[in-house]
Amino acid sequence: MRVAIGGISHESSTFSTVPTTLQHFYERGYHEADDLMSAFTGTKSALGGFIDAAQVAGYDVVPTMMASAVPAGPVTAEATETLTKRLAEMIQQVKDTGPLDGVLLSLHGAMVSELDDDGESYIVRKVREVVGPDLPVIVELDLHGNITQELVDLASVCVAYDEYPHTDPYERGYEAGIHMAEIVRGGKKPTPVIVKVPLLTAIQRQHTHAEPMLTFKRLAREIEHERGIMNVSYLPGFPFADIAPTNFSIIVTADNDEAHARDAANRLATYLWSIKDEFRVEPKPVDLAVTDAMKSSVKPIVLADISDNPGGGGPADGTVLLEALLRLGATNTALVPMVDPESVKAAQAAGEGNPVQLKLGAKVDNMHGEPLDVSGTVVRLTDGKFVHTGPMNTGVQVDLGDTAVVELDGQNGGKVKVVVTSLRYQPTDLEVLRSQGIEPTEQQILVVKSSVHFRAAFTPIAAEIVEVNTPGLTNPDLTLLEYHKLARPIYPFDADMTWEP
Ligand SMILES: [Zn+2]
Repeated sequence: MRVAIGGISHESSTFSTVPTTLQHFYERGYHEADDLMSAFTGTKSALGGFIDAAQVAGYDVVPTMMASAVPAGPVTAEATETLTKRLAEMIQQVKDTGPLDGVLLSLHGAMVSELDDDGESYIVRKVREVVGPDLPVIVELDLHGNITQELVDLASVCVAYDEYPHTDPYERGYEAGIHMAEIVRGGKKPTPVIVKVPLLTAIQRQHTHAEPMLTFKRLAREIEHERGIMNVSYLPGFPFADIAPTNFSIIVTADNDEAHARDAANRLATYLWSIKDEFRVEPKPVDLAVTDAMKSSVKPIVLADISDNPGGGGPADGTVLLEALLRLGATNTALVPMVDPESVKAAQAAGEGNPVQLKLGAKVDNMHGEPLDVSGTVVRLTDGKFVHTGPMNTGVQVDLGDTAVVELDGQNGGKVKVVVTSLRYQPTDLEVLRSQGIEPTEQQILVVKSSVHFRAAFTPIAAEIVEVNTPGLTNPDLTLLEYHKLARPIYPFDADMTWEP
């Protein structure tokens, strides 16, 4: 048994002003053939899961191409075409050099392309053109996917992450790999059913270790254990995509029993609709969050800049929270990251240990504060490379690009250390600070540009976690966004609506 593995993964915010180009994929994550195997073997990634499942189930995987880029605006037509063509070409090569029994794909589910709002269906259509309509194609998806009936029709099984923070891409990849063996050798015939629930939720409440998602997740697991059910996937979706499929998707796959899959999906959807009011987010005002954190007798207080989350398409150069920290005189404080390649260059020119003056941040758009005129000291200059050691993407190397740690002078003797990077990265691992010489447990205040993912690594060390009401692309108040393509009615915008599956 011989299975091709690969994928294209992107989460696209249609509200971002920065298009995602081929270059973004090449600089962040692009691997072919043997390079793919050496990049992912032994890692807790989706592909790492495919590879291990194949080994345990005793079949061969043949690497093709894997491309991913940091979330930003829609993927350009050129990038979509080039990457998809290459993936299809490499699957064709696998087919030409031996028997091909299946394809395991790591996709996202929220890729918007200039060519197609439903980027994943575009990809899988091109793969189907190579492998035909009947070969098993199993697709692993991020929990943030905005999924269409077409994708469910094109794929044999969709397996989405169960956890947010995403601590289980490996486990779901492994699961997908085992399903592949069950289908090819075991004769299972997957019958997937999707139910689209017209509910739009802020990502901050999609967190699966807290209510309302916790109880929902438990119910989904119970259903997954029913005889004949292969997989239960639930995707609260990515709200920062103004496209028709954006809402809450529930996908249940049974073994040759569509009625059971539909009944199970409807039960889950009915429960979800009953808790639809529990997804509200009430973040703390900026100045109050800072002054309370400064007064706290326990540390570190983690202030989450939830609205400038690079994982949701934010530029990660927002300055509103930093401005408050400097003005209010916060000390023993570290902020990560501030993406500003110009300021990194200025810090490099000044050199380690020397004073520096910067016009810092807020250079990408006008939604994340103003550039700040700041002065301080260059503490450290690095190449920005480190390896994840925490619960997410364990073992995967990250590249922040050239990076500078600067300690900025605030009012009343305040001092704020800022990790200024050249590339965007969502802080999901304590190594992002430790690799820059900052010990997170010793800080009074830690500021992270992240909506939820930081929790996996930071909850164990945090005295308290505070969601701060900064302005920005990933602000939880979705009424601030102007939607045009969203399928209506949808809750909570159409507050009086009724719905049943
Ligand atoms: Zn996600």
